[in-house]
Amino acid sequence: MSISGIFDSHSHYNSIEFDGCRNELLVKMLSDGSPVTGIIHAATDTESMLFGIRCAEKYERFYTSVGFHPESVPELPPDPEQILSDMLTRSDKICAVGEVGLDYHYEGFDRENQISLLRMEIELAMKHDLPLIFHCRNATVDFMQLMREYRPKGVVHCFSGSAETARELTDLGLYLGFGGVLTYSNSKRVKKAFAAVPDDRFLFETDCPYLAPEPFRGEVCTSYMIEQTALCGAEIKQTSAQSLADKARENTLRLFGIDLNK
Ligand SMILES: [Zn+2]
Repeated sequence: MSISGIFDSHSHYNSIEFDGCRNELLVKMLSDGSPVTGIIHAATDTESMLFGIRCAEKYERFYTSVGFHPESVPELPPDPEQILSDMLTRSDKICAVGEVGLDYHYEGFDRENQISLLRMEIELAMKHDLPLIFHCRNATVDFMQLMREYRPKGVVHCFSGSAETARELTDLGLYLGFGGVLTYSNSKRVKKAFAAVPDDRFLFETDCPYLAPEPFRGEVCTSYMIEQTALCGAEIKQTSAQSLADKARENTLRLFGIDLNK
């Protein structure tokens, strides 16, 4: 590989796509000399929170978030706030509340309950002085309103909005996560947003196992593939892939308060 110091700010290694190779892959990726420096697991429900906490305890430089994804609203446990508060006590490698947000993509989505869940999660994160990992799909108006209201610390993962929305979010102090979608030939809007994002406000991510970058599109994605995203970003920003990977890593460490020497 041509670059090192990759930090994957958003992954789902609990996915069944990694059954049978998960441990071997994580050990190899997180070993000394690997191009991957660190990984953050984005939790979506109770089971994946427990996965993230187990991995954070097992692997060096593996960190995790705790949170309920908006799509988990129909199956929420009776007291999600109590579960999150309890999870937060289980590891000092919990670096964020996420992935949380709004998703109006599928018919029958429950707007009101998604918003009230998100409000609770933002307030909890602020109480614990933790950043948030946000997911926003087809819900920009409601999402922006909440960002203006709370001005939380955090990252909008897999950012796919316009350059204008990118600027508004970064002006509010938020970070934007970019992954494989940046490399797709039909992603003109994402490329424009990446061109517009300040150097101290972007993170790299995979969202693996999904959204593998070109030329691996459609395959199971791993954190190694951030190299392709960085190479594509380097063309857009007219710089080197290594300097982008370094900036993205520094931004990730700053946002999540991660100290690699600890
Ligand atoms: Zn995700």
